[in-house]
Amino acid sequence: MRYAVFGNPIAHSKSPQIHAAFAAQFGLADFRYDKLLAPLDGFAASVRAFFAAGGRGANVTVPFKEEACRLADMLSERAAAAQAVNTLQLLEDGRILGDNTDGAGLVADVLRHTGIAGKRVLLLGAGGAARGVLLPLVAQAPASITLANRTAARAEALMAEFASKAAGVPLLGCGFAELSGEFDLLINATSASLAGEALPIPASVFAPGALAYDMMYGKDETAFLQQAAAAGVGQRVDGLGMLVGQAAEAFALWTGKRPDVAPVLAQLRAAL
Ligand code: NDP
Repeated sequence: MRYAVFGNPIAHSKSPQIHAAFAAQFGLADFRYDKLLAPLDGFAASVRAFFAAGGRGANVTVPFKEEACRLADMLSERAAAAQAVNTLQLLEDGRILGDNTDGAGLVADVLRHTGIAGKRVLLLGAGGAARGVLLPLVAQAPASITLANRTAARAEALMAEFASKAAGVPLLGCGFAELSGEFDLLINATSASLAGEALPIPASVFAPGALAYDMMYGKDETAFLQQAAAAGVGQRVDGLGMLVGQAAEAFALWTGKRPDVAPVLAQLRAAL
């Protein structure tokens, strides 16, 4: 059983380690998972060659998630909504299924810390990661979802696009400058933490008892989580659990087996 993750760059990827740990939980001795560097102009050819050589499934990371969406012969509903694919599966009939497990990974990780139903959710960012988690968040029936972004027009456009899929959950899009009110669950899906930058949002958006979640992770607290700590937020979680969670969803899709995330997350955390 051959699987792989495609990206460029890819050397940093923790996915082989995560999937090897999942496979060990079930004693899958013939499970193999590699990291493969695809040329920037050769993603589709690399994936097709991998499947032709016996590959059964693949993960896709930066910068190929949109291209993987176009490569897939069919899409899951959540991948179609996200317009991005992080998981590919070769079906029995030779077609390639594209799925997106990022949102399910995030939701599963948040639910390990707090409920989402009835909460006022603030999603920060309007890029691929934010797009991928919107439907899975809606499915948890929060009181509302506000999406704020540096470029206000992108936030408004994204929320307008998702309005028909909101299942009664009020959706609001705005720029950081127009942001007001307070929120119980604040999720940073911007790449500002990559640059070590805090976000230009008021401390008053963090409601008492709020949980702050940053999709980014690292050995030290991210800039956004430090900002939340300064605003008095006690519950702060980084995106390492989302990474393991999206991998668990992909593993379950490929093998039909649902791995235990907690020991793998602890192992990765210790190695950061
Ligand atoms: P995109 O490039 O698609 O989007 C980037 C977003 O960040 C945009 O909304 C952009 O705003 C905003 N942004 C960028 N720089 C700044 C800044 N300096 N200040 C404020 N806003 C900024 O990236 P992705 O959506 O793919 O990824 C976002 C983050 O999520 C990354 O840090 C990534 O590592 C993380 N991620 C983590 C995963 C996990 O498993 N833990 C999975 C997927 C993503 P604008 O529209 O104005 O340009």
